[in-house]
Amino acid sequence: MKIKKYPLFFTAVTIIILAVFSSIVLFPTKQKGSEITDYSFFLNCLESKSVTSAELSDNVIIYETKNPDGSSERFETVRIDDPDLVSRLSSHGVSFYGSSQNTSPSRNFMVSWGIPAILAVLIFLLIRNKLRSPQYGTNSPSSISKSRARIYVNKDTGKSFSDVAGQEEAKEALSEIVDFLHEPEKFTEIGAKLPKGVLLAGPPGTGKTLLAQAVAGEADVPFFSISGSEFVEMFAGVGAAKIRDLFRQASAKAPCIVFIDEIDTIGKKRDSRMTSSDEREQTLNQLLTEMDGFDGRSAVVILAATNRPDSLDPALLRPGRFDRRIPVELPDIAGREAILRVHASKVVTDTNLDFNAIARATAGASGAELANIINEAALRAVRNGRNIVSQSDIEESVEVVIAGYQRKNAVISHNEKKIIAYHEIGHAIVAAKERPSAPVHKITIIPRTSGALGYTMQVDDSEKNLVTKEDALSRIAVLTGGRSAEELVFGTCTSGASNDIEKATRIARSMVTRCGMSSQFDMIALETASDNYLGGEPELICSSETAALIDKEVNSIIASAHRKALGIISDNINKLHKLAALLLEKETISGDEFMAVLDSEKRDDY
Ligand code: ADP
Ligand code: MG
Ligand code: ZN
Repeated sequence: MKIKKYPLFFTAVTIIILAVFSSIVLFPTKQKGSEITDYSFFLNCLESKSVTSAELSDNVIIYETKNPDGSSERFETVRIDDPDLVSRLSSHGVSFYGSSQNTSPSRNFMVSWGIPAILAVLIFLLIRNKLRSPQYGTNSPSSISKSRARIYVNKDTGKSFSDVAGQEEAKEALSEIVDFLHEPEKFTEIGAKLPKGVLLAGPPGTGKTLLAQAVAGEADVPFFSISGSEFVEMFAGVGAAKIRDLFRQASAKAPCIVFIDEIDTIGKKRDSRMTSSDEREQTLNQLLTEMDGFDGRSAVVILAATNRPDSLDPALLRPGRFDRRIPVELPDIAGREAILRVHASKVVTDTNLDFNAIARATAGASGAELANIINEAALRAVRNGRNIVSQSDIEESVEVVIAGYQRKNAVISHNEKKIIAYHEIGHAIVAAKERPSAPVHKITIIPRTSGALGYTMQVDDSEKNLVTKEDALSRIAVLTGGRSAEELVFGTCTSGASNDIEKATRIARSMVTRCGMSSQFDMIALETASDNYLGGEPELICSSETAALIDKEVNSIIASAHRKALGIISDNINKLHKLAALLLEKETISGDEFMAVLDSEKRDDY
């Protein structure tokens, strides 16, 4: 039956058929031309002997009269309880007969049983139909088996390895796959099997999707791409059908690449919890089956990308499936510089940009953020009526990406501005005096859309991969510097330090629970860090007594850093006043200006 395809149409037709049918059964067609009259008119006609014939049924009388001119007319009247009716009719010589129309037992049966039964069956059919088809119209099960996977050939992605910067290891691993797709014979001759599945794992925005597109561009083979979220369907079995379809297409086009983005949406660990969804499990099972269906020589390479490799089902990661894992990590300083260069080459820039300085200022930024920084810089240049992106555009847009746009017209009272200036200079003085600590790069009290009222930017000279205990302690001291200045100068504290407090606590906590840097505990892991790239809160794994001890230890670390910061600032209280006044006046001062004042002050202090 084709009715599955057009449930709405089907519903309409059913309703029309039912309406026609029931009107026939329930309301017998009236005889043509019979006019409804009242009973007394009927009796009058009888008396005047003009009635020639009458048809009697349960509730109506249809009768025919003869007019004096010889024409006949039909009338109808509602039958009322009249015991003399029959004798009256016969006495007036009317030919009359009964009608079985309204009284037939089979008809009664139809009305009381047949129609409800038919209705019930039709409604049941309708509901079953609706539940089966995933959506109205085009998406019915029969149409799913038709092509759903889009086909991308290299022209479409337009990306190559030169578009991806700072991921040299990943590119190297993937170029082997490109070679394999170009010349599978070279590998099969020797008997080598290439990995069937390659998993790109890393934090968001590091270029996983970009890498997959670049592989397609380099390999010059058909590229089937589908995102995990496309498998999230309301109706069971649809995802599995899509997988089957995708792989059927792919094997017909081998050698080719199948790319499944965000695979964690379908590849989550199966568990026995009630929350696990049947549909997802079916889809995953289908994927596992299809991957086993290929042998290593059929030259279909399956790429997948995820932010959460820890949540993937172990069956997906076993040898023969996604057995090769390529980490795509956040770029290091050289990588950031290279990424900045790639994106800057797409916009018109000054010839002598210092990309290294920007790379140093953006520790921890992902490729996507760096691309965004360059774009923001270009937008800023246009806003300011220039047609070339300058160094200061990029520097400003680094701050935009970190802290949001400047709120030039935010209303902040002079008194508050003063507190903010002292707070920021407090941070900066501790940063300058406390070794080891990254040099101060810039201090500003221009508020930002992120809610920051001012900030002190520190930029390290080189990339740090290890954090020493001294580093961590001095970072905490710098964070407490802002509050310390407020306390010393104004004798009070403000809510402005809440963000500093949060950061300091996080550092101190991980010193105690994960890095074994406290005097209380030895090298004992008190927290588990989750193995995903999306951050997430670590979980305590210790008794509640130990948890209380941890809190105490964290507090004592921060307290001693705070004491140290107070000491540094009160030793330099004159410089604090001078620098705060300067910052209030200029709103933004560079690290060099700051250091110049700090160093010159040194001389006239004594
Ligand atoms: P994800 O890892 O989340 O899939 P994408 O590949 O979608 O990240 O990256 C988003 C954008 O960020 C890319 O389109 C590109 O412009 C930029 N980008 C990210 N990483 C890099 C990189 N290593 N080199 C150049 N651009 C990059
Ligand atoms: Mg992606
Ligand atoms: Zn602060």
